[in-house]
Amino acid sequence: MRQPLVAGNWKMNGSTASVRELLAGVNAGLAGVAKCEVAVCPPYLYIPQVQAELSGTAAAWGGQNLSNQLSGAFTGEIAASMLLDFGCTYVIVGHSERRTLYGEDDALVAAKFAVARAAGLKPILCVGETLSEREQGVTEAVIARQLDAVIAVEGVAALAAGVIAYEPVWAIGTGKTATPEQAQEVHAFIRGRIAALDVGVAEGLRILYGGSMKPDNAVQLMAKPDIDGGLIGGAALVAKDFLGICQAAHASL
Ligand code: PEP
Repeated sequence: MRQPLVAGNWKMNGSTASVRELLAGVNAGLAGVAKCEVAVCPPYLYIPQVQAELSGTAAAWGGQNLSNQLSGAFTGEIAASMLLDFGCTYVIVGHSERRTLYGEDDALVAAKFAVARAAGLKPILCVGETLSEREQGVTEAVIARQLDAVIAVEGVAALAAGVIAYEPVWAIGTGKTATPEQAQEVHAFIRGRIAALDVGVAEGLRILYGGSMKPDNAVQLMAKPDIDGGLIGGAALVAKDFLGICQAAHASL
């Protein structure tokens, strides 16, 4: 049985005041969603505040990105060791916004996955196709390429140290969620591809869905056998909505 994970990706949103209010709301609801692992990924600057406010609770936190380098003359970058220094458990790698807006290619994403894992962080590896790729019928080829880039560098066993998030690019921040059937089809493809290399890794691996997940569509998504939680953008900024999704994951077990 895989414990579901619901992770909030706050992106570039927040202030000290809004973080305090959001975390107070999330904290108040954690006891009611105990079967779901809960994590939040704030902008770097708010990680110390999140650490202070979530330490001693059941929730974890993480970064939205990290450097592929360990330390040194890399202006503006944040190292895995720094995330660990502030208590991070998770780090998102390969989010589609990083891939498309900041030119992160499969090789860089694989390098970031490797650095995160070697440091003891749990990478949340994002994969997903654009709308035009879906329309061209190459969804599986795109996901396979993104997965294989990490497996080529790290080996399949390394995937067990992290989590995969299937995030169709056309569903992120658009209000257009993949149907539970569309999402399940891709999740099953991901698990099957990994199972062809290592059944044990595939069976234990958590595969999250991300893309306009909200409390009202989360129940049906979480009911699918290969959907093990969610990576949540917009709804993670509203405590009631985020907790509603965590509740769906909690109840799905
Ligand atoms: C995301 O950016 O990872 C995401 C899933 O965003 P949203 O929930 O807003 O679509």
